[in-house]
Amino acid sequence: MSSFDFDLFVIGGGSGGVRAARVAASLGKKVGIAEEFRYGGTCVIRGCVPKKLFVYASQFHEGFEDAAGFGWTVGESSFDWRKLVEAKDKEIARLEGLYRKGLENNKAEMFDSRALLVDAHTVRLTKTGQTFTAERIIIAVGGTPNIHAALPGHELCISSNEAFDLPALPKSILIAGGGYIAVEFANIFHGLGVETTLIYRGAEILSRFDNDMRHGLHEAMVAKGIHIRCHDVIEAVTRSEDGLHARTKQGDTLIVDTIMLALGRDPNTKDLGLEAVGVEVNGRGAIVVDDFSRTSVRSIFALGDVTDRVQLTPVAIHEAMCFIETEYKNNPTIPDHKLIATAVFSQPEIGTVGLSEEEASSTYDEVEIYRAQFRPMKATLSGRAEKTIMKLVVNAADRKVLGAHILGHDAGEMAQLLGITLKAGCTKDDFDRTMAVHPTAAEELVTMYTPSYRIKNGVRI
Ligand code: NDP
Repeated sequence: MSSFDFDLFVIGGGSGGVRAARVAASLGKKVGIAEEFRYGGTCVIRGCVPKKLFVYASQFHEGFEDAAGFGWTVGESSFDWRKLVEAKDKEIARLEGLYRKGLENNKAEMFDSRALLVDAHTVRLTKTGQTFTAERIIIAVGGTPNIHAALPGHELCISSNEAFDLPALPKSILIAGGGYIAVEFANIFHGLGVETTLIYRGAEILSRFDNDMRHGLHEAMVAKGIHIRCHDVIEAVTRSEDGLHARTKQGDTLIVDTIMLALGRDPNTKDLGLEAVGVEVNGRGAIVVDDFSRTSVRSIFALGDVTDRVQLTPVAIHEAMCFIETEYKNNPTIPDHKLIATAVFSQPEIGTVGLSEEEASSTYDEVEIYRAQFRPMKATLSGRAEKTIMKLVVNAADRKVLGAHILGHDAGEMAQLLGITLKAGCTKDDFDRTMAVHPTAAEELVTMYTPSYRIKNGVRI
C-alpha cells in the first residue's frame, strides 16, 4: 500500500497532462490532476481547435465568390463575428466537458486550481491551500504567448489568447511575427474582411520551412490582399484617437485598430516552485528533461510545451504515452521526435514532413528535387488565380525520400499520410510504384518520375 495520497499528480490539464492522467487512472493508478484555467489546455481552449474553426469561417467568403464559376448565384452575404465567437465557445465548452468526463470516468480526481511544487513528492493547491503527496508528479503546464516586454506599448497589443474572444472584429489589424500563429491569423482575419498587415523581421515568413513553400505562400497571401512587410519590426506602440500607432524600424507609422503579437511562446514555469525543489530549467525557462521526460528531480517529470522540445499538441500526447509505457508498463519508451509531420493552416495550407531542400542539400552530397506546380482543378472553373506546389526531396545515393512539402488545399491532410511513408523509410521508387488516385491533387506525388533538378555538393545542377 502506497504511503502517498496519489500514485501520480499532474499539474496542468492540457493535451499532455490530461492524457497522462487519464491513461494512468485507467490502469488503476490513483491520480490527481490540477488545472487553473480550463481542461483541454491551449490546444482546445485557445489554440488549434478554435483556430481551425476560425479558418473554416474565414474561407466562406472565397467559397461564395468561387461558386459563380460553377453556375451558382449566391445572394448577399454578411458575417457576424459575435455569432462565430458564440458558436466557437459552445463547441469548446463541449470539448472541455469531454476532457473532464474522460478523467472522471477513469476516476482521476480533478482540482480546479493552480498547483505548485512544495517538494519532490508534494504539491499545494493555491485555491484551498491543501497539500497532497504523490509518488510521481508530472508538470505539463504548457506555454504562454511571449508578450515582448521590451516593446514600448506592448500592453496595448493582444496575443492569440485574446484574438479568439475580441468583443468586435477590428477593421484593421497588424500582426507581428512570421511563424505559425502570425501567418494563420493573418489569413483568418483577412478572410473575415479585416485589412491585414503582417510584419516580420526576417527576409521571408516561416523561417523553418522549405523556401518554395515560404515564397509560394507569401505570393498567395499578397495576391489575396494581405500586406506583408519583411525586414521590419514594430519599435513602439502608442494609442491615439484614430487607433493604435505602430512605429516601425523602417521608419513608417502604421495606424490600425488592433495589433497582435505572435512572437513565439514561452514555457509557463514562473512561480511554480521549481527552483526551491531543484527542478532544473534552461535559459528560456523550459524544464530540462532527459530522454524519458524525467526532470533533474527523480520523482518529477515534465511533458509538452513546458519542456520546449517541439511545441505541438500531438508531441505532448506522444510524450505522455511514452511516460505511461515507461513508468507503468515496464516498457521503457523514448519519445520519437524525428520526422514530425506538421501543417500551417494558412490559405493555402502548407503540409510538410522531413527535410527542406535547403536542409537536405547541406546534409547530403547529392539530392534530387521532384517539383510540380499547377493550378488546382477547382480553380479552372472558379477562375481563382492560385497554384499548388508539391515537392519531394530525395537522397540520390539511396533514393530515400527525405522531405515532402505541399502548398495547397488540404496540404495538412496529405502531410499526415506522407508522414507515415517517410517514417516507414519509403524510397522514391516506392512512390513511383504506387498507383495514382485520379483525379486528385495528391496524385502528383506519385507521378513526378524525373527530377526537376539536382543539387550536388550544395550546387544546383
Ligand atoms: P513561431 O516560433 O512559429 O514563430 C515566432 C515568430 O516570431 C518567428 O517568425 C520569429 O522570427 C518571430 N520573433 C520571435 N521573436 C521576435 C522578436 N523579438 N522580434 C520580432 N520577431 C520575433 O511561434 P508562434 O508564436 O507562431 O507559435 C508558437 C508555437 O505554437 C509554434 O512553435 C508551433 O509549434 C505552435 N503552433 C503550431 C501550429 C500548427 O501546428 N499549425 C499553429 C500555431 C502554433 P524568426 O523566424 O526570425 O525567429
